Amino acid sequence: MRALVYRGINDLRVETVPVPPIQSGEILVRVAVCGVCPTDIKKIQHGTVAPPRIFGHETSGTIVRLGARVQKFRVGDRVGLHHHVPCLKCHVCRHGAFAQCETYKRTGITAGFEPAGGGYAEYVRVMPFVFPGIVKIPQRNTFAEGAMLEPVNTVLKAVKRLNILRGDHVLVAGQGPIGLIFTRLLALRGIKVIASDLMERRLRLAKELGAAHALDAADPAFEEKIRRITGKNLLDAAIIAVPSDAAVLAAERMLRGGGQTLLFAHTRRGAKLPIDLSSICADEKDLVGSYSSDFTLQREVSRLVFSRQLDVAKLITHEFSLENGAEAIALASNPTPASLKVIVNQALAGSQPSAENL
Ligand SMILES: [Zn+2]
Ligand SMILES: [Zn+2]
Repeated sequence: MRALVYRGINDLRVETVPVPPIQSGEILVRVAVCGVCPTDIKKIQHGTVAPPRIFGHETSGTIVRLGARVQKFRVGDRVGLHHHVPCLKCHVCRHGAFAQCETYKRTGITAGFEPAGGGYAEYVRVMPFVFPGIVKIPQRNTFAEGAMLEPVNTVLKAVKRLNILRGDHVLVAGQGPIGLIFTRLLALRGIKVIASDLMERRLRLAKELGAAHALDAADPAFEEKIRRITGKNLLDAAIIAVPSDAAVLAAERMLRGGGQTLLFAHTRRGAKLPIDLSSICADEKDLVGSYSSDFTLQREVSRLVFSRQLDVAKLITHEFSLENGAEAIALASNPTPASLKVIVNQALAGSQPSAENL
């Protein structure tokens, strides 16, 4: 089969590799669509993990082979995959901190080499411990929608960390694909979203998805405008969906006492920021984070995506074949005003499945 193999920093090559053999408890999925995710891009650009690997974890496709002991699925099922599932039994799981669980940190989907998601390949092998996260895609829905369940899940998980009420004012800083999903999910909950970004096209889309206000983050009057919108109550919460330290400090200034700032994009180790600790102690402003997904939310995520209350098709601007997968990653890491979510779609020419060996 063909696969996009990570061979070193910024070195991705389309290679022919074996279709991964499955064990009796596993399934083999022919990949249809895999979304390009910033966390994979960071690993590719900074070499934080050892090559070779096949990345890609926002994956959907069709089950083409079942291990002898698998009863839960059928050949031909169209599915959205989920590569991380917690054990639910360990100390951190009992506290609901699934993303910190050792089992959760294992990747249960691979196209070969050290498991890394494998979605940038024609076939992936899926291990049984991640079966609880698999969702069947309804007939009327697309593989692209199935592939978007994972990023939407990460956003819904973060939204649930917020203590917010209908009618509240919440700033969503950064209107890339993730920020736009935040905007939509919050708008659906009756939150007055103030969306900010530097790109006008993204601000327009934020309005379309239900933002009450859309502000240019570079506007010198940015904070003044937020104060005018929110009145004396200020912001109830701020979501920082862009790795900008200035955005965190601005949010802290515009947050009411008892409000929350949620970090979603600050994943780089070693980053430091001076914060007035009395704003946390005396003003009771929370600084919280959220990372990765929670498979127990899959039913709610599926309902939002498959009903198109959250229409993910609006976010997908570019599709590439597997053969051109490196271009997909290059575009997603250097977004243009015209680009949002980038996906690898194997239905496109140049990447037809080579199924003779199945
Ligand atoms: Zn992702
Ligand atoms: Zn656990």
